Amino acid sequence: MTTKSKDKKQNAQKEPDYSTQFMMCSSGTVGADMRPRTGAKFSAEEMLGMQSDALAQITLVMERKGYIRFISPSEIEKTYGGFRQHWERLLREGRVKFIETSAGRMTIDLWIEQYLQNKEEIDKYCRMKNKVLKEIMERADRSCTLVCPMCGERQLDCIYNIFLKPVKGEVYNANGVCRHHGCPFKFNESVRHEDIQ
Ligand SMILES: [Zn+2]
Repeated sequence: MTTKSKDKKQNAQKEPDYSTQFMMCSSGTVGADMRPRTGAKFSAEEMLGMQSDALAQITLVMERKGYIRFISPSEIEKTYGGFRQHWERLLREGRVKFIETSAGRMTIDLWIEQYLQNKEEIDKYCRMKNKVLKEIMERADRSCTLVCPMCGERQLDCIYNIFLKPVKGEVYNANGVCRHHGCPFKFNESVRHEDIQ
């Protein structure tokens, strides 16, 4: 699905714009790529607005298609405005972030469901996920099975989508899912390969 993101603050005379491409999965994960149409530069606030819009759009679509279930009672109003406010806050706080690639794209991968919970749950999840990502990047294997930070079983199957030799500074996708019965832990993230010598 491709959706053009529009910045309402832009007036009609010029249309410096980002095109946004979404990849969503019925398992609740999503990838979004934003790229400049005209090579125009945007302020940090404008970027934040466009990123919040993009995530709000995709969340609304996924919610309507039933791709997202709200795991715990959430305070988020399930409207475009409610989702936008929620993502803007998470982006400002750095809990989720788009990563700029060498080609000038802004890219993000998320297990979106997990970020629709309350603040404590999001924080807990981020700590667990970051621990796993660190381990994956240190290993730099294309696939591995790690100890799941949620259930403690060595049943977390991970894929790090590096091809041959990873290039330092390049952006890759890492994802994983715990195979232990009843454990819901999974992740889907864009990561910059820079922590490795
Ligand atoms: Zn697990």
